[in-house]
Formats: sequence, structure tokens, C-alpha cells
Amino acid sequence: MARSYVVDARRRGLGRRRERVVPIIDRLAEEHADAQIALRFRSDLELLVSVMLSAQTTDTNVNRTTELLFRKYRRPEDYLAVPPEELERDIYTTGFFRQKTKAIRGTMRVLLEEFDGKVPNRLEDLVRLPGVARKTANVVASELGHAQGIVVDTHVRRLSQRLGLTRHDDPVKIERDLQRVVPRADWARFPHLLIWHGRRICDARRPRCEECVLEDLCPSSRRKTEIRSRGFRSRKDP
Ligand code: SF4
Repeated sequence: MARSYVVDARRRGLGRRRERVVPIIDRLAEEHADAQIALRFRSDLELLVSVMLSAQTTDTNVNRTTELLFRKYRRPEDYLAVPPEELERDIYTTGFFRQKTKAIRGTMRVLLEEFDGKVPNRLEDLVRLPGVARKTANVVASELGHAQGIVVDTHVRRLSQRLGLTRHDDPVKIERDLQRVVPRADWARFPHLLIWHGRRICDARRPRCEECVLEDLCPSSRRKTEIRSRGFRSRKDP
């Protein structure tokens, strides 16, 4: 279990999770107005394949690979029309290419057999696709405009813990905690905001608390001497 910044937050008078989360979202939305998925895609199918390829590699690497890949593979049938070895070569640079090829081909088969070749947007359908776990399903559903959960990746996990929004380490439990406090309308953008804040400011090893817009809301801020009497109003408040 993660260190309990949840308890720290209360002890320091930062308020309850539900009260802090809205100003956290408002400030991050202002600070990272450009926060969005970094993968490049032009269709639901390209989105699904990109997210499947992004496991264990960077989004930049996936984008580099898919630039050519998506010119060659446009429909689910295209992924099944070539020998597996050919697809393996085409996605080799994203790593774990054998597993990913197997998952992509299996997914294309199910799409054709059960979903008329279309990408479903319900979480329970997405997780039935081979190689599509809850995180991938959440990303795809959110990007399709049907968020039914909150994506928890390494940045979301770290920041949710540091901000005292969860005391758990397990992604499923973290997601459950976040779903309780994050307004439903923000489920899709919330992970993007945390991911971009994690990349730009709240680094895993060296968080730059002195530059952080959440400093007075954050129980794990390194600027512990700061007086926390500013309250936790949104920046948009007068
Ligand atoms: S105050 Fe520090 S630990 Fe808290 S979110 Fe900001 S950078 Fe991260």
C-alpha cells in the first residue's frame, strides 16, 4: 500500500479528496491546456491498434511505426491477409512484436466475427478482444467519447498517490478511488492532465514542487514549510 498522503492531507488541513479534486482539475486544465493523447490516429481502428502497440514503449515510437503501418493496413481484414511474420516485421520497432502480432490478429478476427468489423465502445466488449486489458479498453472508450472508467498508468498512479487521492498501489483500486471523487464529466481528460503534469512538473524522482500549481493542495509537496492557509479555491474563483 502506498504511503498514506490521504491521511497527511487531512492532518494538514488540506480538505477532503472530493473538495480538492475540482480545483486540482481546474488548475491543471489551465496549466496544460494542450493535454491530450499523444498517439496519432485517424479512425477508431487506428486508435485501437495504436493503443495496443503502445504497451512497453513510448508514444513517439508508436507514431513513428504507425505512420507506415496505417498506409498498409486500413481494415481489420488487412491484418489477417498477410502472414503473421510480415506483421511482426512491420511492428518490430515497438517491441514485444510476437505477442502484439498475436493480439492484433486475434482482435481483428473478433472484430470481424462479432462486431461487424467495427470497434465497439462499451468497456465490457472491448475487454473481450484478445490482448485488450482494462487500461487499453479505458483509453479507447475515452477517446471514442464514451469514458466508462479512468485510465490509470504510471503517471496517474504516482500523482494520485502524491496528491492524496488514493492510498492504494493496485491500478484497479486506484481507479475505483478516483471514480468516487472525480466528476464523471472529467473522467476522460483527468488522466491526460495528470500524465502531462507528471511529465512536465511532477517527475518521479525530482518533483518540481516550487513550480507546481498544485503545491498548496498537495500533501506530499516538498515545500512543507509553506503556510497552507490559502485554502483550495479554484484559480477561476474570484
Ligand atoms: S506539489 Fe510536488 S509532489 Fe505535489 S503534485 Fe506538485 S510537483 Fe508533485
